[in-house]
Amino acid sequence: MSGMKSAHIKFETAPDKVAKRITKMRPSAVRLLFAAATRPDIISLAGGMPDVSLLPKSAVRKAARAAVDDQAVTLQYGGTNGLFETAQVFCDIVRDIGIRHKPENVIITTGAQEALDLIAKTFCDPGDIVLTEGPTYLGALQAFSAYEPEIRTIEFDDEGMRMDLLEEELQRIGKGNPRLKFLYTIPNFQNPGGVTMSPERRKRLVELSHEYDFIIVEDDPYGRLRYEGGHCLPMRAFDDSVIYLGTISKMFAAGLRVGWIMAPPGVTAKINLAKQGTDLSGSVFDQKMAAAYFRDTPWQNTLQKFVKTYDKRRRAMLAAMEEFFPPEVKWTHPEGGFFVWVTLPSYVDAKSMLAEALDNGVIYAPGDSFYPDGKRGRNSMRLNFSYESPENIREAIRRLAEVIEGRLELYRAFINAGAIKE
Ligand code: PMP
Repeated sequence: MSGMKSAHIKFETAPDKVAKRITKMRPSAVRLLFAAATRPDIISLAGGMPDVSLLPKSAVRKAARAAVDDQAVTLQYGGTNGLFETAQVFCDIVRDIGIRHKPENVIITTGAQEALDLIAKTFCDPGDIVLTEGPTYLGALQAFSAYEPEIRTIEFDDEGMRMDLLEEELQRIGKGNPRLKFLYTIPNFQNPGGVTMSPERRKRLVELSHEYDFIIVEDDPYGRLRYEGGHCLPMRAFDDSVIYLGTISKMFAAGLRVGWIMAPPGVTAKINLAKQGTDLSGSVFDQKMAAAYFRDTPWQNTLQKFVKTYDKRRRAMLAAMEEFFPPEVKWTHPEGGFFVWVTLPSYVDAKSMLAEALDNGVIYAPGDSFYPDGKRGRNSMRLNFSYESPENIREAIRRLAEVIEGRLELYRAFINAGAIKE
């Protein structure tokens, strides 16, 4: 009995058994915030959810029925690469954004999130170098960091990742450095930055990938949600060595966990091996629903509804920021997607300000979560406009402006007294 007890205690104290890579992973403040987001007195600008209430019930039912009616397939194990008919549908829908890809070379994943994990699992040994925008998608940092690469970040401006800074970093890394594995980018309406990489920079990035021998991982969950400006070709459309990631989460349903990887055939085979150990196959039921939705329902009309609705919300946010934010505050101007990136004066800590914001009935995602070291981005925040109504967004920005103004007043007093430098 006593032996059993001590075994149990040992289990309870398992932290000393936990792999080092897990102990290095930080809990994400952003994920914890989702709990506060459910309080009725809080308006949340912290999340990144699509508004699935915009989906027509008839289309959802039709897609679900297709999955139910084919139960011999959809309730059974599937192949690791996914359902061929779904891969075919995804090849069809990317054709009109300029990508030509064969369905036999598609890997269907459990959301784009699994794709990020599989890519790091396939390519990264501890100490390898991965380049990303800084800030970048939190879920990508979480997925990559489990494989212990060194993640180096490159700043962006209004035209996306800065190629001058990338070139400097590449020179430091050196040509032909075997540690350099891939560069991860979200070229359209970046999460969290909201910025879009210009066509010139996309071309330059592809050139650099050949010159310095690294893979480009192009993550494009928001590409179809453009509210102004013209469509930019994905890099995968003009270079076959790019790995392109897509997902149905923002165009259809985030609750169905379906994404895809379009990569060169040799890479696809290796990722397939990595995926076998993860889940053998993604949900066949979800994949069937996705195929039916994009093949048998007027999904483009629904997409237009998403675009119109999110655009109204985006405009409400940008207008409210113009109206309420103090002049010291700067923000990006997203042409699509879900997010605006806000930069406060360097002396304001957005994370510690969150408690006051919560008290004032609004929450946001503090900027440091989007950097691998969690140290930079302290004076910034990500605001989401896809989920709340225009009225709520305006009110949330008004509340947030009050909190920011309170902080700035305090700092202005310190600055005037010479206690801190501007
Ligand atoms: N990449 C980016 C840039 C994202 O913003 C998200 C979700 N917010 C994902 C990947 C993951 O998407 P999913 O797993 O739902 O397909």
